Amino acid sequence: MDSKDLFALALGLTKPWYVARNELDTANRQLEIGIDFERGGTFPCPECGQAGCKAYDTEERRWRHLNFFQFETVLSARVPRIDCGSCGKRPVQVPWARSGSGFTLLFEALLLTMVPHMPVAAAARLVGEHDTRLWRVIHHYVDQAVATRDDSVRDRREGRFDGGAVRRRPLGPRWRTSLDQRSLHGHVTGVHQGGP
Ligand SMILES: [Zn+2]
Repeated sequence: MDSKDLFALALGLTKPWYVARNELDTANRQLEIGIDFERGGTFPCPECGQAGCKAYDTEERRWRHLNFFQFETVLSARVPRIDCGSCGKRPVQVPWARSGSGFTLLFEALLLTMVPHMPVAAAARLVGEHDTRLWRVIHHYVDQAVATRDDSVRDRREGRFDGGAVRRRPLGPRWRTSLDQRSLHGHVTGVHQGGP
């Protein structure tokens, strides 16, 4: 097992994804982990779930990840688009990030843990990001939590509440296993609005 295998384990990557390279830039204190997929690897369609779709083409993407020690860490990957017979060409859902986000799910989880306890501007300084980027993430989860709460209230009003289950919207695989909507809602409603 080499360092690439260790990073793959730490990131929880499963086939066809693997760590192809990692580059440590000591002068700029940056670590870039390059992820790739095995030749001929297949993916489920992000729309209909049809399994076994092959890559049609790819697009280079980058995501800010949690720091490894003092090194600012970035994941990069070529993300395939599949050509689903029913849905057309769609970029696949990568397991480490939410669709459309420039941060990994672990980075977003860290952010949501920080913001109830400090102003967003202070969190932004701590992680070395512009606060507008962080606010975009926070707004996404606030909107999602509010929508889930509204669904739950409506279900209860219409007699569809089953005495404990709260309807869940699809989240990335890590979120589904580690956070439920109720605890997320508790986090995001405590967000500080003010400056430092
Ligand atoms: Zn499809």
